[in-house]
Amino acid sequence: MQFHSLNKKAPNVSFAEAVVKGLAPDRGLYFPESITPLPASFFENIENMDNIDIAYEAIKQFVGDEIPEADLKEILADVLSFEFPVVPITDNIGTLELFHGPTMAFKDVGARFMARCLGYFNKDNKGHVSVLVATSGDTGGAVARGFLGVKGVDVVILYPNGKVSDIQERQLTTLGQNIKALRVDGVFDDCQDMVKSAFLDAGITDQRALTSANSINVARWLPQLFYFLFAYKQTKQLGKDIVFSVPSGNFGNICAGIVANKLGLPVKHFVAAVNVNNTVVKYLETGNYEPKASKATISNAMDVGNPSNFIRIQQLFDNNFEDLKSDFSSYSFNDDQTREAMVAIKSGNGYIADPHGAVGYLGLKEYDLSENEYGIFLETAHPVKFGDVVEETLNVTLDIPKQIQGVMDKEKSFTSISTYDELKSYLLNDTDYKN
Ligand SMILES: *Cc1c(COP(=O)(O)O)cnc(C)c1O
Repeated sequence: MQFHSLNKKAPNVSFAEAVVKGLAPDRGLYFPESITPLPASFFENIENMDNIDIAYEAIKQFVGDEIPEADLKEILADVLSFEFPVVPITDNIGTLELFHGPTMAFKDVGARFMARCLGYFNKDNKGHVSVLVATSGDTGGAVARGFLGVKGVDVVILYPNGKVSDIQERQLTTLGQNIKALRVDGVFDDCQDMVKSAFLDAGITDQRALTSANSINVARWLPQLFYFLFAYKQTKQLGKDIVFSVPSGNFGNICAGIVANKLGLPVKHFVAAVNVNNTVVKYLETGNYEPKASKATISNAMDVGNPSNFIRIQQLFDNNFEDLKSDFSSYSFNDDQTREAMVAIKSGNGYIADPHGAVGYLGLKEYDLSENEYGIFLETAHPVKFGDVVEETLNVTLDIPKQIQGVMDKEKSFTSISTYDELKSYLLNDTDYKN
């Protein structure tokens, strides 16, 4: 499969090149040249298929012949080695739990898939690539874990000082080996801007091959479409029209859901549920896309003022504003509403949602499901990852799962930076990766 840049000023590339490059040289995001729907029989039989076969059928057209079937299935088996259950919340609402992976964030699947693809492309140990990634919280941990020990790849993670939780910081600063953390004086958007600038800085890229593990990378972005297929597999028998509400920050997850829909997955409507960072909500109201500086909230993994994948969503709707608005809505909620939703969810069937999942739940409430519809909100992080807010809001004490326990007593190790020049000199002077 060929991928083209959405800025249309760079050559088309293969899947492997798109993964290794991350962002196109014209700063555009890579986008598949075509999306061919899966046969109707796939959706007729989906409940009888295992997750690995579902994932293989869905992703193979994007990978093409660059990873042979047996290797791709082995990668998928490794990446998808945990559960993705839909848990009922009310009669017409369920939550798709995406937090059963090693860092208990939904980003584990994308990060692991990308790490294993890069590892595969580097199997002859010829080259070296540095993964540069900005995180608002959960990406860093998932990427760090996913890439730990992968040959020929080292990872540099930028995160905003004081804006990620203690557990999140530990997950990305305690692993060592090929994983380095940079603590940035600034907000997430500053980290993301620095990463984008580094990719375009020949002064760096002439010395050191860089790629991104943010959802701009196709190998991080596309495997997220599996979630929507797994949810359908579990809820198809209800015989209702499915509405997905996705707690959204950079809009990569929901964008992958729309790709699943293009592959033929029956979806009635997509709701992008956001916190007060409401750039897309405003766009749908006014038709003007005006990025803003991000504001800090209790659902901090969604504190994004300029969602990088929104351009891919527009492309999936052929840049037709009316078509987009008929299948896609976006609603914004503040922290008080989020806390109230956490309380409401718990008072129903005792379910404990994290702040991101709670925003997703609010998205379904605002959409107002009809008789024939079943709403699924994506629970993107385990509540313990946002333990302070959850314990204080719900008056509960959370057990720390074993995945998290492992990082709690390790020493944090990071380098502090505040400007792009400091990042640049770090990348040029850190030569550990050459060993
Ligand atoms: C990253 C993240 C999100 C937002 O996902 P996008 O794909 O960036 O929209 C939501 N919730 C959690 C917990 C996350 O880590």
